Amino acid sequence: MSTASVSAASSVLLPTYARAPIALERGEGAWAIATDGQRFLDFGAGIAVNSLGHAHPHLVEALTQQAQRIWHTSNLYTMPDGERLARRLCEATFAERVFFTNSGAEANECAIKMARKYHAAKGQPERYRIVTFEGAFHGRTLATIAAGGQQKYIDGFGPKVDGFDQVPFDDEAALKAAIGPETAALMIEPIQGEGGLRSVPMRVLKLLRELCDEHGLMLIFDEIQTGVGRTGKFFAYEHYGVSPDIMSIAKGIGGGFPMGACLATEEAAAGMTLGTHGTTFGGNPLAMAVGNAVLDVILAPGFLDQVQKTALRLRQSLAQLKDHHPGVIEEIRGEGLMLGLKLKTLNTDFVAQARAAGLLVVAAGDNVVRLLPPLIIGESEVAEAVARLDKAAGAVEAELARPAAE
Ligand SMILES: *Cc1c(COP(=O)(O)O)cnc(C)c1O
Repeated sequence: MSTASVSAASSVLLPTYARAPIALERGEGAWAIATDGQRFLDFGAGIAVNSLGHAHPHLVEALTQQAQRIWHTSNLYTMPDGERLARRLCEATFAERVFFTNSGAEANECAIKMARKYHAAKGQPERYRIVTFEGAFHGRTLATIAAGGQQKYIDGFGPKVDGFDQVPFDDEAALKAAIGPETAALMIEPIQGEGGLRSVPMRVLKLLRELCDEHGLMLIFDEIQTGVGRTGKFFAYEHYGVSPDIMSIAKGIGGGFPMGACLATEEAAAGMTLGTHGTTFGGNPLAMAVGNAVLDVILAPGFLDQVQKTALRLRQSLAQLKDHHPGVIEEIRGEGLMLGLKLKTLNTDFVAQARAAGLLVVAAGDNVVRLLPPLIIGESEVAEAVARLDKAAGAVEAELARPAAE
């Protein structure tokens, strides 16, 4: 049986995803090619993961070179490539300490544990609660579903992990009221990804920093989706002039290789002493080789300037698209190459129509369609994507105009 003929009915995978009926078997840059030869312009990039597109020669070279040397050593031994990647991440950010993980949720688990341990190590173990924000997404582990606070992810999985207090996205009074003697940290995505490309206003991020300084709290930024060049800066917090104490990253840092990291200041990380945390696979040599290769490209002079230029062009084209399809597109949201179309029609229909037009995009909460192209796209890919979005919007309009036949 060919991979393309695996239907949902015959799959033995847990049916936790509504998988589109295409199987992508190879890629070149911003293009992904399915088993039947169909070519898709990939403006999802595996949900903001393939930051440098598919089969980037520098990443392929780094991974295959490493694959011929050594795959795994465990964290029982010194890891030169991991030391180097950590140092480079620190040099390019606010951070002074790094812990590598395999995924975003694990990076957040580390961030949560670190914030709690910070207070415990200072003799205040009762300070373990973390304030999070409505519409957040922090992952699918037991602690991170509690942090995200979405009932549909929490229901049925036993008692919700204690220690998370959720407040509305932009409600200063509620935020201040939620901070008490047991609060350890505030945790937020600078731009909500899964929640629908909602940007946290700059004044709110500045307020969070002030509140953390005033109450001795850790400020945790979840930059798993916004990080590694996605918004046109290396990390989104640079747009706001507000630095966190702890930051989780993943998705784009591996360019498609599964990896994440928890970054922190020396002070924030002070409680994470010998034996307090660990991982078998985190910091694996294959991941470290690819992570270093991703940074070679993204931190090269001029790369992020180019991302910003491309993003501006895409955003302007999307504004025109919105004007052409006022019945479908309500608003353009986001920052850099993390853009969203807030729709008046159903986002899942739009995603399917875009796919039919040969463009991969990703649905998000709040009825938004996300555009998360590889950061390497140029003018021609922007033009092609907008043409295909135009086609998709036209198809959605045609559907709406049809008299209800059922
Ligand atoms: C994707 C994502 C996560 C979870 O990452 P996983 O690798 O799926 O565990 C957490 N936070 C944000 C903001 C994300 O976008």
